[in-house]
Amino acid sequence: MRIKGVIGQSRAVAQLEAEASANRLAHAYMFVGPAGVGRGTCALALFAALNCERPLHGAACGQCGSCRRAAAAEHEDLIILEPPSQAASSQIKVEAVREAIRATGFAPYGGGKRLILIRRAENLNPASGNALLKTLEEPPPNNILVLTVGDAKELLPTLVSRCRKVAFKPLGSELIAEELVRRGADPETARLKAGLSSGSLGRALALDADLLRQGLSAWLEQLAGGGQALEDWAFAEELVGAHRRAGGLDRQGISQGLDLLALFYRDQAVRAAGKGELALLPGGAAGPGLAGACAGFSRVRRAQGEILANAAPELALVVMMQKLRQDASGDMQANG
Ligand SMILES: [Zn+2]
Repeated sequence: MRIKGVIGQSRAVAQLEAEASANRLAHAYMFVGPAGVGRGTCALALFAALNCERPLHGAACGQCGSCRRAAAAEHEDLIILEPPSQAASSQIKVEAVREAIRATGFAPYGGGKRLILIRRAENLNPASGNALLKTLEEPPPNNILVLTVGDAKELLPTLVSRCRKVAFKPLGSELIAEELVRRGADPETARLKAGLSSGSLGRALALDADLLRQGLSAWLEQLAGGGQALEDWAFAEELVGAHRRAGGLDRQGISQGLDLLALFYRDQAVRAAGKGELALLPGGAAGPGLAGACAGFSRVRRAQGEILANAAPELALVVMMQKLRQDASGDMQANG
């Protein structure tokens, strides 16, 4: 059997194809890897391959009724559970798990395999996880469970031990850029998004290039300003405020917002080192020299680390801005 349509995860795909071809598919899998690298896509592709009505050379045809319903995630034998919202604290409720388990009591309607995909399984609450245990241990015949998870350590060990692991890796930025171009992005935007994607196609697709450029201009304008700590604080407060949610502060979001500024310094560094072809941001305005660019890059990364490690984000940002200006002025003196 062959699994089609999964980008850049050849090992994971090869493992599943080999197990399916040898008739040794597990009844419960855990697809482990970062979000947006193809774990869910691979589960859906596996489902399509297992249920295709007219397979072509062992792969799903993409044309039959089963393939089309699978592609639209509307197949009667495909059950998808996921947290109700994107918030990190959003939980998969036990009622939803029980309903999925009830469905496994009937033979698959299409006569093939039923697949129950549990996305972001780290968001199963303890009751939901416990409700799953027995089904994971021994699902009724022709049912396959796939749990996607970022880090197996975030799941109950009793769940982990019942699943066969398949590892998914971050994607290369070249591969992501190519895919974005294939989906209609212009090459420059594709490179920018790929550079900020941390190897996640899902994240790259969610990025808004115009917003990114506006965000970077705002940063550069603020940094070029007078450097009054109070003004910096107001700027930081506004930025952090945009990441306050009902469930608390989205530290990950604030940190990711700094990725573009880090990328700016990275580009300045590669340009200063005479490697402009490696730059990801358009333009080539005179920036800090190599030492200043490297210092800037590490200042931004340090602030990101502090914010993720629970520092007051406004304070971390203000300190970063003040230091960035000091670095820049020191660099100008060194160059002059
Ligand atoms: Zn088909």
